[in-house]
Amino acid sequence: MEETHLKKLTINNVQLTIKVCLRYLLIFGILLFGLSTTAFAAEYDGVFFMGFNTHKDIFEVREVRQAFNYAINREYIATEIASAEVAPTGIIPPGMLGYDEVLAGYPRDIKKAKQLMKEAGFSMSDSRIKNISLLHTDGVKTRKMAQRIKEDLADIGVKVRLKEVDYADQEYWASELESGRHHLFLMGYKASALDAIYIGDKLMKVFHAVTCPELPPADRQQFLYSYEGAVVSGYRPCDVCKPQPERQPTTIDLLNPLFHTGGSANLTYYHNRKVDNLLDEAAGIDPTLTSALRPKYEEINSILQNDSITVNLFYIEKL
Ligand SMILES: [Zn+2]
Repeated sequence: MEETHLKKLTINNVQLTIKVCLRYLLIFGILLFGLSTTAFAAEYDGVFFMGFNTHKDIFEVREVRQAFNYAINREYIATEIASAEVAPTGIIPPGMLGYDEVLAGYPRDIKKAKQLMKEAGFSMSDSRIKNISLLHTDGVKTRKMAQRIKEDLADIGVKVRLKEVDYADQEYWASELESGRHHLFLMGYKASALDAIYIGDKLMKVFHAVTCPELPPADRQQFLYSYEGAVVSGYRPCDVCKPQPERQPTTIDLLNPLFHTGGSANLTYYHNRKVDNLLDEAAGIDPTLTSALRPKYEEINSILQNDSITVNLFYIEKL
């Protein structure tokens, strides 16, 4: 699906295509992955969540975002719909640096949710909570999640209007997602090192870094998603750009795009100077210095959890 889209765009503008394609690779609108086959071997590198559009007045208020988190039955969505073992707590999945096993999640608590809405100045009958749009795609499970969220939020007086788009029409989905029109949206995001993409020359059987000055014409391009995979497929590395094996994605590859001000996948429009500073500091630290990085990631995780900028629905397993 993604490949088809890429080829279509490649004809016009190679660089633009690469940028667009990276986003499509990382942002999921539906569940594209298989279910866990073993109970203990699961490794995660992403998270599927409902995001709040903080450019909408109502979601500028933290208590409202927290109320939504308490109102939504994440346990049910994670285990019954997504077939995950547990509902997530923070945004950082188990196994990634900064994961906090004692971080409290948001258990379903309607009383608390109503209390928070009241504190924020929204009564059950407030007209401002009667037309809240939720953007989602047409995957069977995604659709079920959206429906469940709508029902759960009705318990605190919120009337959700579902806006479903066809995931196959990725351009439309991306444009709706980026339009800022919708209050809420469902999406998944996987950490990925941005260099984990190469362009193969189908004719010459050579593969390049995306920044190579000698890329083949569009009709000869083949996108390759790992160095080893390229070699196994019979491609040899280009002598000009000398593509390097991709590094393993880390926590910063998950957090930076989603939560740094202006991040490439920051569709909540989250803006928190403290988080920006921590991310910038973390980006400047050698990824092998885990003891220096861990406290920074943990602090970010905790801030994001308290700010309730997303409703975390389940962790995405590594492919
Ligand atoms: Zn090259």
